[in-house]
Amino acid sequence: MKNLRLTALNPETKKRTTIQVGDIRIGEKFTVMAGPCSVETEEQTLEIARNVKEAGANILRGGAFKPRSSPYSFQGLGIQGLRILEKAKKETGLPIVTEVLDPRDVSWICEYADILQIGTRNMQNYSLLKEVGKVQTPVLLKRGMYSTLSEWLNCAEYILAEGNPNVILCERGIRTFETYTRNTLDLGIVPSIKEVSHLPVIVDPSHGTGRLSIIEPMALASLAAGADGIMIEVHNKPEEALCDGDQSMSPGMFAEMMEKMNILRACMEKINM
Ligand code: PEP
Ligand code: MN
Repeated sequence: MKNLRLTALNPETKKRTTIQVGDIRIGEKFTVMAGPCSVETEEQTLEIARNVKEAGANILRGGAFKPRSSPYSFQGLGIQGLRILEKAKKETGLPIVTEVLDPRDVSWICEYADILQIGTRNMQNYSLLKEVGKVQTPVLLKRGMYSTLSEWLNCAEYILAEGNPNVILCERGIRTFETYTRNTLDLGIVPSIKEVSHLPVIVDPSHGTGRLSIIEPMALASLAAGADGIMIEVHNKPEEALCDGDQSMSPGMFAEMMEKMNILRACMEKINM
C-alpha cells in the first residue's frame, strides 16, 4: 500500500471525507440505509419506506436495475422503479440510494438518486467508474467479492480522479472457502480502511452474511468496529420478495435492531470521547 500514490489514501492531512446527503453528513454521523433488495411495487416500497423511516433509518435503499446471476430472474423495474423511489422520497423525505449498472444510464439516474450504488460485480467496471466520476452525486462503491483493499481503493481512485470526491466505500462480504454464510463479512477491513484512507466506509451485513439470524449481531459489530454506517435489506413480506427474501428483515425485526443500535451508539460515543 505504501507504494501507491492514491488520493484515496489519507495519511498527510488526516482529514476525513464527509458527505452531505439530505440532512445527514455521512462520515460524521452513523448512517443507516435500509429498504428492499428490489423495488417491486409502489405499495411495497412505500410501506417499507414508512416503516424504516419510523424505525430511524436515514436513507432508503432499493434496486431498480438488478444485477442477477440468472438472466431469467427478475431484473428490476427500471425507470418505473426509480419513479416509485421518487414517490417514496417525496412522502418520507428519505434520500435514495440505488444501483446503476450501465455507464449510459448514469446521467439520467442522477435525477432520481441521491447516492449511486456500484455493486460488487461492477467494482472493477472501469468505464462505469469513470462515468460516475464525472458527476458530483455521491457514489457508494461496494467491495468486489474477490477484491483486496488495494484493488478496492484503486477503484475508488478512478472515481476521485475524474473529479467526484464523494465516494463512500461499502464492505459487503467476500468469497472464501466458508459456505455456511453467503459471503464472509470482513469486518477487519473497517479499521484497516480507517488506517489508510480518509473515505467513509459502511457495512452491508445483509449480503455479507445472507443469513437473517446473523445480520443483527454483525450490524452491531460493524458499529463497534468503527463503520460510518450500515445498509440493511428490509421487506414487508420477506417470504414473497422477488429477490433476497431469505436475508430480508421484517420491519419489526429492523425496528428491534435499531433500538439495540441506538444503545450501542451511545456507548460508542462515550468510548470515542
Ligand atoms: C444490492 O445491494 O442490491 C446488491 C446487489 O448487492 P451486492 O452488489 O453487494 O451483491
Ligand atoms: Mn439483495
